[in-house]
Amino acid sequence: LTGAGLSVESGIPPFRGPGGLWTKHGEPPMNGYQRFLADPRRAWEERLNPTGPMAELWSALAAAVPNPGHRALVELEELGVLRALITQNVDDLHRAAGSTRLLEIHGNATLIRCIGCVARFGRDEIDFAVLPPRCPRCDGLLKSDTVSFGEPIPPDVLERCFEEAAMADCMLVAGTSATVHPAAQFPFQVHERGGVLIEVNPYPSELTALCTHALRAPGGEALPRLVERVRELRG
Ligand code: ZN
Repeated sequence: LTGAGLSVESGIPPFRGPGGLWTKHGEPPMNGYQRFLADPRRAWEERLNPTGPMAELWSALAAAVPNPGHRALVELEELGVLRALITQNVDDLHRAAGSTRLLEIHGNATLIRCIGCVARFGRDEIDFAVLPPRCPRCDGLLKSDTVSFGEPIPPDVLERCFEEAAMADCMLVAGTSATVHPAAQFPFQVHERGGVLIEVNPYPSELTALCTHALRAPGGEALPRLVERVRELRG
């Protein structure tokens, strides 16, 4: 389970905390999804011509590249240790690094999703001549795949997250204090079933007390060392 800490190491500003976009610019409205539904055309106009904090975020996203933490998780997947990666990040960096068993619980900022049939599309697959754009498959309303405030997590992703968490004997929690639901409940679920939790975070979190191991370092440092250790143990 990964979160904002891993993105911050790639130069993407966090939303909350020191230097956070919302700390500087104020929290966005908590009913973003309802506002989208009320006026999808305007939401798309803002999305295609971002200003203020959103422009700052988009330029950071465009410039960001995966860091050693992202690459270490790809190695763990290749070693057969990591069976699924649930991320709260929307920045596409896990995919860019090469992760394939990826569940983006808050969506992916580079994709567009139909709120009708839940199909995802790249930007180049969509015609923006008339706003809001429509789904090429079902003519449903399209929005950014990024899950907005007030928007339900897309059911296909959420279901798979619950399935994977139910099978996990160990969960690595990197760069997240795991306080935002529903992602927050997966480590608790693993712990309750007697699974091992490993926290990778420079700072203690609400989760620390439940963790078998806490690696007090940024993911970019701790995760490559963890991979080294796994390789040693496997000979
Ligand atoms: Zn559709």
